[in-house]
Amino acid sequence: MQNPVFIPGPTNMPEFLRKAVDVPTLDHRSAAFAEVLKPALAGVRQVIRSADAEVFLFPSTGTGGWEIAITNTLSPGDRVLAARHGMFSHRWIDLCERHGLDVEKIEVTWGNGLPADRYAAVLAADRDHRIKAVLATHNETATGVVSDIAAIRHALDAAGHPALLLVDGVSSIGSMDFRFDDWGVDIAVTGSQKGFMLPPGLAIVAFSPKAMAATETARLSRCFFDIRDMGRSYYFGLYPYTPPVGLICGLKEACNFLLAEGLENVFARHTRIADGVRAAAAAWGMPLAALSPELQSQTITAIRTPAGFNATDIVTRAAQVYDTAFGTGLGELAGKVFRFGHLGVMSDLTALSGLAVLEMCMADLGLPVRLGSGVAAAQQVYRTTAAPVLKQAA
Ligand SMILES: *Cc1c(COP(=O)(O)O)cnc(C)c1O
Repeated sequence: MQNPVFIPGPTNMPEFLRKAVDVPTLDHRSAAFAEVLKPALAGVRQVIRSADAEVFLFPSTGTGGWEIAITNTLSPGDRVLAARHGMFSHRWIDLCERHGLDVEKIEVTWGNGLPADRYAAVLAADRDHRIKAVLATHNETATGVVSDIAAIRHALDAAGHPALLLVDGVSSIGSMDFRFDDWGVDIAVTGSQKGFMLPPGLAIVAFSPKAMAATETARLSRCFFDIRDMGRSYYFGLYPYTPPVGLICGLKEACNFLLAEGLENVFARHTRIADGVRAAAAAWGMPLAALSPELQSQTITAIRTPAGFNATDIVTRAAQVYDTAFGTGLGELAGKVFRFGHLGVMSDLTALSGLAVLEMCMADLGLPVRLGSGVAAAQQVYRTTAAPVLKQAA
């Protein structure tokens, strides 16, 4: 039997979604394909809470989604504003620079969130509106830090600034509160293998009407990722090339599943699981990379190990001895943290098993952690917050 994974993506796949992806060959020029594509697009729109965003599904990943966002809306030399507060925001900045954009960077201590006040100051000072887009990583998967996107929107509005707001929601959409319309997001980016619990392979992007308008004047080079080609085909329920039909079938079912559970319930479920994992870290006497409680992500917990200890040894041992995958520290947190991904279908039972494996690894490696201490702390959270089980539709 295969153990569950505790990496922050790809996440565990529920059996019914594995089956949903496994479809016989389907002619993508048939009416049957349109009957899958349209509900998948509508489902994503509901999950991100938007009334009129245009959703596009590309054969790619979240990283490709970043490229779709910038190449469709920006031109060479355009200035963009971005904060670097972890490995994913760093990579997005790198991708922009490689595309010839002029990135104004706000350096933030890893473990902190996006500094809305500093965004506000830069935007207010940019009186001739040279900044064309503001980049924001909603949930920094490297540090387990969630940021306040509404506050970034507020910074733009307070400055009367017309820049587009481009948001990386790869490790938050479908698992944590995400409000495309309320937060005035212009482009949201995610992938199939995180909150949607599917195999990797789809970049899922949503464009606001304002972002759609920007695609007409953008001059960065784009071809495969041109959303105008995609949009024209979607009108007829078609694709400009061969679509990843199985993944799109899966996405339709994943959206149905999340919406049937109710987004508020999905988010509460993630919070509850995260609370247990955090309680375990506290019992081990290990601080989180997130520097204050309101920054703690509901989908990923990055846990710091004692100075002088290589946190990656825990991850290596878990893989080699206990056949269980956890996330390592990335970039400047390499060796300092290990990461527990608890997004997707994670249950209390699954989370407890992951915590138990971590304790075995820590004990094996000589860390002064008492077996069962973190598990007991999480059990205490789970038993006091357990709700009657609702039978899930098969
Ligand atoms: C996983 C992740 C990405 C990269 O997505 P890929 O699908 O691996 O390309 C980007 N941003 C965040 C926040 C992520 O968690």
